[in-house]
Amino acid sequence: MEENLYDMYLAGGKDFAQTKTNDSNNNDQNGIRMISLTQDGMYLTAFWSRCICGFGIENRFDPIYVMENIIPQFDPDYNYKIVDIVEWTFGSSVHACYIPECNLIFVRSDVYNRATAGNLIDVITITHEVVHVMQILIMRFLSCFSIQYNTVLCKNNSIQMQINENQTDEITSLILEPEKLFSGMNAEEITQKYIINPLIQFLCGILKNALSELKKTVGESLENELVTIPEEVICIV
Ligand SMILES: [Zn+2]
Repeated sequence: MEENLYDMYLAGGKDFAQTKTNDSNNNDQNGIRMISLTQDGMYLTAFWSRCICGFGIENRFDPIYVMENIIPQFDPDYNYKIVDIVEWTFGSSVHACYIPECNLIFVRSDVYNRATAGNLIDVITITHEVVHVMQILIMRFLSCFSIQYNTVLCKNNSIQMQINENQTDEITSLILEPEKLFSGMNAEEITQKYIINPLIQFLCGILKNALSELKKTVGESLENELVTIPEEVICIV
């Protein structure tokens, strides 16, 4: 994280979010673009987040371990900061937050300490911030393969921002209570829904992009041929 951003956060508290830089492709002029997930997308995010972070489908999800050890492996630009309660400038009602503009999770020290001791409310709070980062990672992953996905422009205090927060809450709940992901499903249905179907969709997305690139290239070379052929004919004659 850039030091000046942290200084701005310390100096400005809530206003910090409004003094963001435009250094990310996801930033729009007055907000930030976030992924907009379908219901299935939220379930898939929860399932794969658990698997990628090493908790499988049964183990207790540990957001502090993910925040400190797993996410840095996927994203070298990401960071987190435990801020002493006396230096906390986001207001007493905010216990932790994720600032996408600088890819940084802030956690108040008392919240961190209670979450470490297993206090459920604080575990939920930190998981929520971790899920925000997961959503950004999914966006980057899909972008890497040029796969289309829906985004929504989240401005401060907008309805879209609230919708994104609600989605983050739902994914958080699914991650912490994995039995919700599999309720009423047998092993075959779980494999189909969470592994086979998304894999097929993913491969279809890649194939679709490859074909459209190919079409573009073939189209361009055909156009070039059409332009060059008459010249060659003139030369030969
Ligand atoms: Zn949030």
